[in-house]
Amino acid sequence: MCDMDIFEKCYSWTKAKEVMAKGLYPYFREIESGQDTEVYIHGKKMLMLGSNSYMGLTNHPEVKQAAIDAINKYGTGNAGSRFLNGTLDIHRKLEEKLADFLGTESALLYGTGYQTNVGVISCLVGPRDYIITDKMDHASIFDAARFSFGKTLKFKHNDMTDLERVLKSCSENGNRGKLIVVDGVFSMEGDIVKLPDVVKLAKKYEARLLVDDAHGTGVLGKNGRGTPTHFDLVNDVDLLVITFSKSFASLGGAVLASEKVIHYLKHHSRSLIFSASMPPPAVQAVSMAIDIIKREPERIEKLWHNTHKMKKGLVDMGFDTGIGETPIIPVLIGEMEECFTFWRMLTDEGIFVNPVVPPAVPAGQCLIRTSYMATHTDEQLDRALDAFYRIGKKLNKI
Ligand code: PMP
Repeated sequence: MCDMDIFEKCYSWTKAKEVMAKGLYPYFREIESGQDTEVYIHGKKMLMLGSNSYMGLTNHPEVKQAAIDAINKYGTGNAGSRFLNGTLDIHRKLEEKLADFLGTESALLYGTGYQTNVGVISCLVGPRDYIITDKMDHASIFDAARFSFGKTLKFKHNDMTDLERVLKSCSENGNRGKLIVVDGVFSMEGDIVKLPDVVKLAKKYEARLLVDDAHGTGVLGKNGRGTPTHFDLVNDVDLLVITFSKSFASLGGAVLASEKVIHYLKHHSRSLIFSASMPPPAVQAVSMAIDIIKREPERIEKLWHNTHKMKKGLVDMGFDTGIGETPIIPVLIGEMEECFTFWRMLTDEGIFVNPVVPPAVPAGQCLIRTSYMATHTDEQLDRALDAFYRIGKKLNKI
């Protein structure tokens, strides 16, 4: 084949195979059990410190029963999009429940959080408009920006001076639409957006504001209502995007906004109209998860107990945990090879974590991303701290 072949890159790309040959390949690990504080991989029990199931609800008997009941009543899928033939009464009911829970006028369900960002942003941002993103926003936001016809401008991570510089530069080009897009909790760093300052700047420069609260919902704010509630700024966020693949123990996503905006999205948002709707068990699992989160506030308290215990434990040992302040705690390691070695040694100790390497982080700043659930016990966390200590010493990281 000539070197114009689009498959050429597949044939010549060897990086992952080289890492596999060294026994250091950390991706696509097959879990043979439910997502819980302990999982089985190749028959071996592993302590799970790499899940986004913050509330620990994916194996909750009531959540599972709600999904089973939904299959019994509605079957396994909807074979169509919300727009034409795939809307169920439970979709509408979940939208009403979400709007009520999160304090907005309306809500709209999508197939995933990724599709929500793509569908909402590409629908609302036109060719004359700007999308203004934090450099550390989730990949789905950058993909959404590419799908839209607007111009993307990035500002330095959580840096309000830089955000104002970017907003000023937009205004120099006449009166154009502006959408600021930020994560509520940043998915790799684990820090929280400076929402009060972002809101002030959005108002000053007449920009609309979208908060992707994938990692904030269930975790921050009263009853887990998320980052806008945490800052008491629910009415100042124009578009709130959430996902069900984390605290809500399921799969799917939603946008929350005013009735008029939701009505427009329902008739123009392409990833909603041209993709199938959330399957019944996923919908009812979310609905039950919300009931449990509301009913059992002690889950959130336990999640924060676990978070503080791990953060303090790791920092006291001398690890650099960056700017994280949520149940996502990154442990900075450095070079890629060292990071994979650290990961391998934790794996051998029976601990599941996620190594994060470029392009997700800058070169030389590779990290082990740990994340915690409400259902981790103190004994499990002590075991993890002990392993981190011994490996950190051995590899001269502390
Ligand atoms: N936004 C953020 C901040 C995320 O972390 C993720 C998932 N990692 C998504 C959106 C996409 O969500 P989903 O898994 O539902 O597609």
